[in-house]
Formats: sequence, C-alpha cells, structure tokens
Amino acid sequence: MAHLRGRKLPQTQTCRNLNSANLSCNFYCSMDSQDWIKLDLHIHTLDDPKDKLDYSARELLARAGRLGFGVLAITLHDAVFDHAETFAAAERMGILLIPAAEMRIEGGDIILLNVRAEEVTGLRSFHDVRALRAARGQSLFTIAPHPFYILGGSIGKRLIDEIDCFDAIEFCHFHKGVFNPNRQALRIAAKFGKPLIATSDAHRLNAFGQHYTSIPRPEQLTPDSVFAQLRQGRLRLTSPAATLLDIMSTFYFIFIEHPLRAACGHSHR
Ligand SMILES: [Zn+2]
Ligand SMILES: [Zn+2]
Repeated sequence: MAHLRGRKLPQTQTCRNLNSANLSCNFYCSMDSQDWIKLDLHIHTLDDPKDKLDYSARELLARAGRLGFGVLAITLHDAVFDHAETFAAAERMGILLIPAAEMRIEGGDIILLNVRAEEVTGLRSFHDVRALRAARGQSLFTIAPHPFYILGGSIGKRLIDEIDCFDAIEFCHFHKGVFNPNRQALRIAAKFGKPLIATSDAHRLNAFGQHYTSIPRPEQLTPDSVFAQLRQGRLRLTSPAATLLDIMSTFYFIFIEHPLRAACGHSHR
C-alpha cells in the first residue's frame, strides 16, 4: 500500500494487492486521485433479454456521469448492447462505453468486452471462446464473473481448466465477513497471474456506483488502452462489504421483486 497516500476515506473499502488475510483492505484518498478513472465492466439494464429490470441505459449513464465514472460496459445476458444513440450519448459525456455481453457458455458465465453481436451469436463452447480470442488477440478482454457464487451461471472450479479463456477474474460485489466466495477467486487469480476486477453486476440502478475498479487514466481513452492497464494490473478495487440493508434488498429483489416482474411480463421500455 506504499503508493497510497493521504486521507483515509471512512466507510469505503478497496482491495489493492489483496491477500487472503485482508480481502477488504482500507481505501486511501491518493494525492493523485484525479488521475485515476472509475470503471464498471459488468452492468445490466432493462434491455436484458433474460432479467426483468426497470432502468434504461440512459438512466445508467446519467447516474454514472453524476458519480464520475469514465468507463462502462453494459453486459446483457447472451446479447451485445449496441444502441448507437447510447454510445453517442456516452461519448458526449466523456464516458467510454465498451460493447460487451455476458454469455453463458457450457453452464458458466463469461464477460466479453469489445465484442460484436455477430461474434457472440455462434459462441457455444470454450473451444469457440478460444478461437475468438485467437482471432481477436489483445483487442478482446474477458472476465470470469462471480466464479464461486452458487446462484446463477458460476463457472466454479472449472475456471482452472478454462483459465486460458480469461484475462481477468471478477471480485464479486456481494460479500460480508466470513461469507466471501471471492477468496477462492483471489487464490486462482494469484496462482495464474490474472488481475481481479471489482464490478457492480448491477441489476438495480441504486446498486450501481459503489463497486468498481480504478485505473490510471490513459492518454487516449480507448478499449485497447483500458485493457492494457488492466493486464498490467495497476488497479484499485473498491468493493465495500454488504450492509444489512444491501443483503435484505438483494434477497427481496431475487426472491420477490424479480419473480413478480417476470410473472407479470413487466417492462419499463
Ligand atoms: Zn452472471
Ligand atoms: Zn451479470
């Protein structure tokens, strides 16, 4: 933590140079904080074909602008978000919006960043992922989201077998005290030299903004320059432990609100 200087921010946590004994170390307000930008590379919106959400990409952008985010990726389930007008709006705001998707491959989720719709439609297996990575090289970036969480499409221990399909491993937002499946992700990230990336995996608008990764601002803000920083691993992770309210509202969303919306075919389009 030698590079971190200055005032300690209360009630905020980060995970720079995580180790298993200290999964949520303290976050310090660095003297050069204005040179760092905030990234959230795993977010859902109401455009999601699988989940029934109630906020638009434009509402997300407005909140991201207020909270000072520099880079976002809308990662719909099994689809690339490609609304040109939203990308143009983000550009006007100085936000880099990276085309992306969260694909379920052989039962496990994978986030693909800087990807086109036609590239993900035929993606069925990790063999296909390897072929796409070989074709795209460093211009494609992939993350293993929530690898050791039980709910949803978590890859689990198979992450080790497929590790060459991933550039990074997610530090999932949902953790508190002894409940922290990120510990396993941390061990694998260290073993294979992969960066850990904190994201919000937001399914509600107010869940966006607290969980993110920061990188030094590149000279040109492009997918390639962002990926280069991520691969270098000069990152700060901000991922505070869940509060009791977070836990209650997450369970309410998963077990009551979302099933009701799905049953009613609810949409706010
Ligand atoms: Zn997922
Ligand atoms: Zn997700």
